Amino acid sequence: MSESQKKGYKEIPIGGMITKAGSSAEFKTGDWKSFTPVWEKEKCIHCMICPAYCPEDCIPKKDGKRLETDFDMCKGCGICAEVCPVKCIEMKEQGDSDE
Ligand code: SF4
Ligand code: SF4
Repeated sequence: MSESQKKGYKEIPIGGMITKAGSSAEFKTGDWKSFTPVWEKEKCIHCMICPAYCPEDCIPKKDGKRLETDFDMCKGCGICAEVCPVKCIEMKEQGDSDE
């Protein structure tokens, strides 16, 4: 590319800026997690605390019940396990296979 074909500074997108809202939905943020939340469904009292605290909004709810985590979006941060009042979520390291 010759000097005359290079873009001027006004044509280059500004770095580090999110120019379109909701763009993270296009990425599977769960791809790079080290830990996975394992939910013991039977012990869950469906208090809805974990979906409220989940920063990825990846714990679905339906008819007053929480459902299984969307692992494509879960980052493995462990907040859900920390806030659960009945401790029915355990963070397991990726690759653990004791089930
Ligand atoms: S580990 Fe973090 S991102 Fe994953 S479901 Fe729990 S709170 Fe949400
Ligand atoms: S915080 Fe625990 S008990 Fe409450 S909905 Fe989540 S998993 Fe169930």
